[in-house]
Amino acid sequence: MKGLMQDWSLVCHRIIDHAAIQYGKRKVVSRSIEGPIVETNYAEIRKRALKVAQRLVKDGIKPGDRVGTLAWNTWRHLEAWYGILGAGAVYHTVNPRLFPDQLIYIINHGGDRVMMTDLTFVPLLEKIADKLPAIERYVILTDRAHLPQTTLKNAVAYEDWIGEVDGNFKWVAVDENDAAGMCYTSGTTGNPKGVVYSHRSNVLHSLAAAMPDVLGLSSHDIVLPVVPLFHANSWSLAFSAPMNGAALIMPGAKLDGASVYELLDKYQVTVTAAVPTVWLMLLAHLEQHNLKLPHLERVLIGGSACPRAMMEKFQDKYDVRVTHAWGMTEMSPIGTAGQLKPEVASLGHDAKLDVQEKQGYSLFTVEMKITDDNNKELPWDGKTFGRLKVKGVAVASSYFKGEGGNILDKDGFFDTGDVATIDELGYMKITDRAKDVIKSGGEWISSIDIENIAVGHPDVAEAAVIGIVHPKWDERPLLIIIPKKDKKISKADLLKFMEGKIAKWWMPDDVIFVDEIPHTATGKILKTALREQFRDYRLPTATAAE
Ligand code: AMP
Repeated sequence: MKGLMQDWSLVCHRIIDHAAIQYGKRKVVSRSIEGPIVETNYAEIRKRALKVAQRLVKDGIKPGDRVGTLAWNTWRHLEAWYGILGAGAVYHTVNPRLFPDQLIYIINHGGDRVMMTDLTFVPLLEKIADKLPAIERYVILTDRAHLPQTTLKNAVAYEDWIGEVDGNFKWVAVDENDAAGMCYTSGTTGNPKGVVYSHRSNVLHSLAAAMPDVLGLSSHDIVLPVVPLFHANSWSLAFSAPMNGAALIMPGAKLDGASVYELLDKYQVTVTAAVPTVWLMLLAHLEQHNLKLPHLERVLIGGSACPRAMMEKFQDKYDVRVTHAWGMTEMSPIGTAGQLKPEVASLGHDAKLDVQEKQGYSLFTVEMKITDDNNKELPWDGKTFGRLKVKGVAVASSYFKGEGGNILDKDGFFDTGDVATIDELGYMKITDRAKDVIKSGGEWISSIDIENIAVGHPDVAEAAVIGIVHPKWDERPLLIIIPKKDKKISKADLLKFMEGKIAKWWMPDDVIFVDEIPHTATGKILKTALREQFRDYRLPTATAAE
């Protein structure tokens, strides 16, 4: 027997429709690329998104065509986002922090026909435009007064471009399983691969992400997504905030501590989200100027492991609750979030932090398992490491154009490339990327655990750990440190600080102090580059072992 319910398709434009109807006056505030802060609301965003859709159709964009965006988080980018979706086209958010060669590869591989971009990236695009033959037009997200002289093909100021239509338009009809958006993985090895979200997966992922045990969004929230739209749907916030009527404060191009603080304070932001690097800058700014965060209730931290010291600072000093989350581009992106279940909610201070240091438990719509190399499932005991595999309604089933072949195991699970433990309560803890784990004497050492402990030292700004070849143990950990500005730390000092916090045999064999650690375009430590840099490095213990 079939259910007798209506077929109400899960298409993304319904989100902005709902926001405009129920929360039309909720604010969307942006730091513009031109400088001033601009205020608008969901009703206006929808109105102008309709114009974008209408204008794209007038330019010949058909359902399924890709429209690129190379832009910061602003109201215009949000309008473009919903406009592209509403034209039945596919938004392709491109990460401007990638190298030019990667940008060229991604834009061509994605087959983008139009590129919508900020003023910031006009010079960058001008340099590579001759290698982007499929792009028919560049829409610069600004007005005529700010449009620079440019060689970009058919360049037009966004405001002029949408000014040519009246907005009397109906969203183009699409199937909920049609492609809605595209985002390439950061590709630390090999070429980046395209992840293609469907309307249905975006809607369901946003519903799941907004739930109380994940982001817990409501119309009372004021959300500042520092995490960019080009970083996997800004962790669902481009959908889940309007869906729930949460106001949006968009940071534009300025992500430094002072600029983020200004918005948090001025607009009384309640929820914000970003990678740890951003929070390092904010916390340094707060400390330097002796500031507080009286309005902020929650901070979502993910993309790489949130150090314990950062959690403590937010929670104990600023009274801001940390939600540690894990996910990946292939998962739309949220997979787990670290809210406290009733079983752990009344633990003491340190025991609670132990739980929060884990990456959390899976949200509804995501299944996970850990396996050995033979796909044998491993126990959820909080100790056994294994390959983390996932399955779900918003998890990729393959990459764009079939790159990388079949990416699912025989049970339909996707191998995340992460190594993790899962405890009895379902809390998952990433111990490493499969390729970054340090293999010492047949056992695995988690580089992330060592890094987290090292950044707990008050004079350490950033830490990275890589495995260095060792004649006896195969590999041993090398700890690479950036000290805080004007601070000096000795190797002995640091090792003493770490003693007793990790197993003896996990202790780094050497410590190196540097001025810079390379990062990927999404803010993660670029371990491949570090390994290359220290390829010929000899550990003092290696000489002793020979
Ligand atoms: P991306 O697709 O660029 O978002 O990268 C996804 C990868 O980032 C994951 O597979 C993890 O290796 C890493 N990652 C994301 N969140 C976390 C986290 N909270 N802790 C540790 N690693 C993380």
